[in-house]
Amino acid sequence: MTATNLLQTGQIGPSAAEQGRPFRVYTQRDLDRITAIHHLPSDQRFAMKVVSTVLPFRVNEYVIEQLIDWANVPHDPIFQLTFPQAGMLTPEHYAQVADLLRHDAGKAELDAVVARIRETLNPHPAGQRELNIPRLPNGEVVTGIQHKYRETVLFFPSQGQTCHAYCSFCFRWAQFIGDKALRIATNEAQDLHAYLRQHRCVTDLLVTGGDPMVMKARHLEAYLEPLLGRDFDHVQTIRIGTKALTFWPYRFTSDPDSDALLALLERLVAAGKHVALMAHFNHWRELDTEVCERAVERIRATGAEIRTQGPLLAHINDDPDAWAALWRRQVQLGIIPYYMFVERDTGAHHYFKVPLVRAWEIYREGIQQVSGLARTARGPSMSAGPGKVEITGVAELAGEKVFVLRFLQARNPDWVHRPFFAQFDPEATWLDDLRPAFGEPEFFFESEYRERWTGVLH
Ligand SMILES: *Cc1c(COP(=O)(O)O)cnc(C)c1O
Ligand code: SF4
Repeated sequence: MTATNLLQTGQIGPSAAEQGRPFRVYTQRDLDRITAIHHLPSDQRFAMKVVSTVLPFRVNEYVIEQLIDWANVPHDPIFQLTFPQAGMLTPEHYAQVADLLRHDAGKAELDAVVARIRETLNPHPAGQRELNIPRLPNGEVVTGIQHKYRETVLFFPSQGQTCHAYCSFCFRWAQFIGDKALRIATNEAQDLHAYLRQHRCVTDLLVTGGDPMVMKARHLEAYLEPLLGRDFDHVQTIRIGTKALTFWPYRFTSDPDSDALLALLERLVAAGKHVALMAHFNHWRELDTEVCERAVERIRATGAEIRTQGPLLAHINDDPDAWAALWRRQVQLGIIPYYMFVERDTGAHHYFKVPLVRAWEIYREGIQQVSGLARTARGPSMSAGPGKVEITGVAELAGEKVFVLRFLQARNPDWVHRPFFAQFDPEATWLDDLRPAFGEPEFFFESEYRERWTGVLH
């Protein structure tokens, strides 16, 4: 039975209690109005204010009431995932902002200091802004699209550049602080369609954000429904990146246009597209509410798949048992584990980072605990300029301790799944920290990458 049928018969319809649950959101200005944090020590509340002056903060009532275990604050993973913590700024940056707030500094002075700090936080990691922006044949730049890997085009609809809440580690944080120069967005459905029509090698469209699921169903329709035309037969797969199953599962159950949204997914599936929700999860607790379960059920009833990905983060999920529980729970719900990412070098990276060797151990110890169906999770993977690099393991070769690495995805498809080696470094947290093993001057892909994709020699 299809979702619309189920909706009509009321079998998986929302219960009366959650019909049209209002979406209430809190940002930095509303911190004092969040009653759940009133009992926290005042220095902790002040720290939240300081940190959220620099990094984006947005949380909603569902996260506060149903996801966070307030008895376990500040260690609760969902609290760490959404609420600002003192350690997210370096001590110097923290002191600068705290000082200005304590002395009621003027807005101009505060803004200037905040802008300077943000500039040091690598707002656009992995050359996202410069390297992947495509052009139409007339030379016109297509904003809102990135085309990095041959088969897959990323699309950033302009109405989807926010989220139902913000993750404290988000690598897209720069998009949320209103810096227009940093926004990667478009509202040009026509550009998207023209670009896809001209690129027959593209099999996958990945709609991303922010979170495209903050969009009205009719806006998503305007982007996606035309892809059912014959011109777009080559676009076999439509993926939608989202964290709504965590931050606002009501999006799929009781929002005013929830049914229209599911009906859209169902039409795409019925017309022969593979539709996949790429759901972002960090912790099994995100999948542990009734409304989330119901949302998963309703999405799956449309014929769309749910695949999951998420970064490994200190303070949130740097524990193999937590990953094993997350993967097991996903398989139980009919969700397919896809990627475990290494956190990118941006924003509050120093707070969340995990050494690569530890990331590999956590992945390995987690994957060993689950059955083959949950071992579809690949990683730990770094999304870097040249591609997605997996830390395959640590080994000793020719008397040298090395990291064994390989590309899961690459600018040049020919690089994929060729093992390569880096000197072992217990402290390395990102590809940039690694040096080739065996005294080689550089990694096998580096000169080609420099010549073909960065446009700079260094
Ligand atoms: C991960 C990613 C994709 C999709 O790659 P798959 O391996 O097909 O999941 C596409 N574009 C960019 C920029 C990515 O980072
Ligand atoms: S849901 Fe994704 S884009 Fe939104 S804040 Fe979290 S990591 Fe960033």
